[in-house]
Amino acid sequence: MSTSKMRHSVDSSDIALFGQLDMVYNQLRFVEAEQNNTQFACKSSGRCCKIGLRVHMFECANIAYNIRQQYYLIMEDKGKETADKYMNATVDRLVDAMFDKDWTDDGKTTRFCAFYDNGCTVYGYRPMVCRAFGTVTHVDDYCPRERNEHGHIDYYSGSPIEEAIKSFQGLMQRYAASKDSGDNYDMVIYMPLGVLSFLLPDEQLGELYQKTDSKFWMSAEGWFNYRVHFTKLYGYDKEVLAQAAKDAGHDIVFDDVEDETLVEIER
Ligand code: SF4
Repeated sequence: MSTSKMRHSVDSSDIALFGQLDMVYNQLRFVEAEQNNTQFACKSSGRCCKIGLRVHMFECANIAYNIRQQYYLIMEDKGKETADKYMNATVDRLVDAMFDKDWTDDGKTTRFCAFYDNGCTVYGYRPMVCRAFGTVTHVDDYCPRERNEHGHIDYYSGSPIEEAIKSFQGLMQRYAASKDSGDNYDMVIYMPLGVLSFLLPDEQLGELYQKTDSKFWMSAEGWFNYRVHFTKLYGYDKEVLAQAAKDAGHDIVFDDVEDETLVEIER
């Protein structure tokens, strides 16, 4: 990954896609609300937030855009000093995550997510993988949700979920297609770095590159390589993804395993 092409920005066509992304999130919000009326409701333990996610740049862009919006809303409400404190604290937490010695590129770590602070600080615009966990996928043993007689939770599936996840993939694809290839917008990346690439100026990104482990600067090229549990269950087939990769001049880099609980994020 070239650092010179790591500084990113949001343009007006992106904002239209973010609106459509939010509509796809609405479908998961609806399902989540339904589930929270059942015995399998999320208990908000935060245990699933002990992770260092890798997500596509599209969702990093959406999070960064909303953080900036939040900054201006705080400024309007409480003044610039308070808004600056919010932004500095947000950036500091993201930068700190770039020094996580325990993080491995499957997302495992001993730390909480950079956005976790007694709850998700980006809840309204958190990525799809967080919404999908336990809502349309099974959960890991650490999750304290109630279990059914088979030791699992009941989660939602079926064609509406498939449509939502394929729409999500379609939006990543459209976002990627709207950018110059080579500008590092179409990749799956460590989320703190992806968000920082919209928030930090060039020089600070360069400094970060000098000071941090190369493991954080590895990416998987292409939306088709965003292969996580929910995209495997409901998204496009491997053959479709392989063809999209071929058309884009890239390779599929994921290596699926049958026991999907083994892998949280792949690249
Ligand atoms: S983005 Fe929010 S919900 Fe997702 S892992 Fe981070 S803190 Fe948890």
